[in-house]
Amino acid sequence: MNVNEELHDIVRQLKTELEWAARTGMLIEDRRIESPAVAPVPSVPKRETASGSHSKQGMSLAEIREDLGDCTRCKLHQGRKNIVFGVGNQNAELMFIGEGPGADEDRSGEPFVGPAGQLLTKIIGAMGFKREDVYIANIVKCRPPKNRDPERDEIDACIGFLRAQIAAVQPKLIVCLGRPASQTLLETTTSSSRLRGQWKNFEGVDVMPTFHPSYLLRSPENKRFVWEDMQAVVKKLGRNLPKRS
Ligand code: SF4
Repeated sequence: MNVNEELHDIVRQLKTELEWAARTGMLIEDRRIESPAVAPVPSVPKRETASGSHSKQGMSLAEIREDLGDCTRCKLHQGRKNIVFGVGNQNAELMFIGEGPGADEDRSGEPFVGPAGQLLTKIIGAMGFKREDVYIANIVKCRPPKNRDPERDEIDACIGFLRAQIAAVQPKLIVCLGRPASQTLLETTTSSSRLRGQWKNFEGVDVMPTFHPSYLLRSPENKRFVWEDMQAVVKKLGRNLPKRS
């Protein structure tokens, strides 16, 4: 990269940071929302999943929830307080998928309500949506102990329900938050830093992998990348960013 290109890149990054700060009310280095450290996640090998079939497809969200029942299909049921099924508009054009519930979500039964969830809600708002406009779910629906990553057998047991939720909502676009969600849905072992910002496809639906909000809480300097990804999502949906007040 020559000097002019480097300067152009620095200006572009600064513009992105200022845009982010203006729209979310959060500076890139803002650490007002604290989050516990989360260990790096292991790669998920490419493989066919046992419950990745289409057997649950064609069901409504209510039917999928009923089918899930008081699920004991994997060992994660042992420590959970609540199943965190998913929340939002059943006809949403935009769906966000994370890896699994944390402590706050386990307590409330709703995904993304803790500090990372509050940041996600800000991001959704900055994109011109309300939280209730979109649909939010996770790869696994019960909290992994000590917030560890979901294990392969747990993902295999649970992923069929997420696939069915995607089929029921029929979003125009999916945003995968973090490596476990991105690698699982896209069946790849590519790192999240290589995946993020690159358009992918899941059964005909455009997918944008990006960083998980909990990672942004630990590494706020990466918020600008997520904001770039979300700008691309808004554009792909044929929308405009809301006018700044
Ligand atoms: Fe059932 Fe999914 Fe919970 Fe495992 S994580 S017990 S498969 S709902």
